[in-house]
Amino acid sequence: MSEKKLFFGGSVVGREGVERAEVLIEGERIVAVGPNLAASESDVQPVDVTGLTLLPGLIDVHVHLREPGGEHKENFYTGTCAALAGGVTTVLAMPNTNPPITDQHSLDDALNRANTHAVCDFGLYLGGTANNVEEVRSLADRAAGLKLYIGSSNGSLLVDQFPAQIQHFEQFPREAIIAVHAEDEAAVRYYASLGQRRPPICAALSVTHLITLAEQIGRRLHICHVSTGAEIALIRDAKRRGVQVTCEATPHHLFLSTEDEIELGAFGRVNPPLRTVDEVSTLWEQFDVIDMIATDHAPHTVEEKEGSTPPSGMPGLETMLPLLLTAYHDGRLTLPDIARVTSTRPAEVFGLEHKGEIAPGYTADLTLVDLAETWRIDNGALFTRCGWSPFDGKQVKGRIRQVYLRGELSFDQGKVIAAPGCGKNIKSSR
Ligand SMILES: [Zn+2]
Repeated sequence: MSEKKLFFGGSVVGREGVERAEVLIEGERIVAVGPNLAASESDVQPVDVTGLTLLPGLIDVHVHLREPGGEHKENFYTGTCAALAGGVTTVLAMPNTNPPITDQHSLDDALNRANTHAVCDFGLYLGGTANNVEEVRSLADRAAGLKLYIGSSNGSLLVDQFPAQIQHFEQFPREAIIAVHAEDEAAVRYYASLGQRRPPICAALSVTHLITLAEQIGRRLHICHVSTGAEIALIRDAKRRGVQVTCEATPHHLFLSTEDEIELGAFGRVNPPLRTVDEVSTLWEQFDVIDMIATDHAPHTVEEKEGSTPPSGMPGLETMLPLLLTAYHDGRLTLPDIARVTSTRPAEVFGLEHKGEIAPGYTADLTLVDLAETWRIDNGALFTRCGWSPFDGKQVKGRIRQVYLRGELSFDQGKVIAAPGCGKNIKSSR
């Protein structure tokens, strides 16, 4: 049987624009993109994608898959099924599991679990602590990066003291990624004592501090979930000065605000919190500073959210692309913008070779969408184990039809086809 497939009849989203083109793949790789490829190839399996638009498989650099320790909310199988359903072919999973991923033993265990159960490609972050500087440095080439919680969030990880911060910044390989949850812990606690949840100054203080560290030491820094105009201004200035800083924004900070929180209640509780309509507008106005969209997919069960001490976080893998495609229809983004922030830039920044573009030589991770379909997000149709979305009931335009992972059909018309274990560790070949 032929290993070559020819996708014909569709439109391909590239760096500069969208073109009617055929895509020829052989095994896991794209070998050609352009018109009339069929004529020269006789041993190809044709795949009719008439009416569909092909995006490079999405890369979500910030997800919480909850395994080990939180499998009642999500696990590597359900979380990566949610990824495929959302058009995401690669996820980078955060280390604030139970136990957290802070040493070789916990990394080996989590990698084993992911290798056995994941249906999309994955990488795992290491979690920094006050006393694992040497250990995580020695594991750097097996991980997607190092995550530092400068302010506390879910789980036990916290690096709010200067000695550990400077040591991680100095010793973790400079070409590798340090990703930070940037909220100033002292400020978070102070405002909590006043009954206020993490106002924007908490993030601005921490981003100022972290950019200074990165600039002084001369290392890379990735700032997670920016949610305020103040952070964007700081990052814009730092980039102009040549600081090696990148950032991500989440769909919930772009598509929800404090006004939605009134209705969502605890289901809208997240760190950093939802912001005012004005802050949300600023994020959209300064969109060019944002390197990538990452979901911060952080599932909790309905029971937990309805409990007396609801945890922070919300799922996002299945709704990111439909929301972005709706923003495209609304004229807020172009399709190349969407490919850039969901695939091309994440691949560049995190060094994911051969991913992030539909072009010869790249991996055949393809997300096929029907731009014209209008539908409603429905809690009942989700793959995430938590079974709810803050966007339940919202009408969106643009639907994910099929997803190919390294050349194999993995999600088709609402069904996950990929078998557990299909997903590969992005660091396994290093
Ligand atoms: Zn997170």
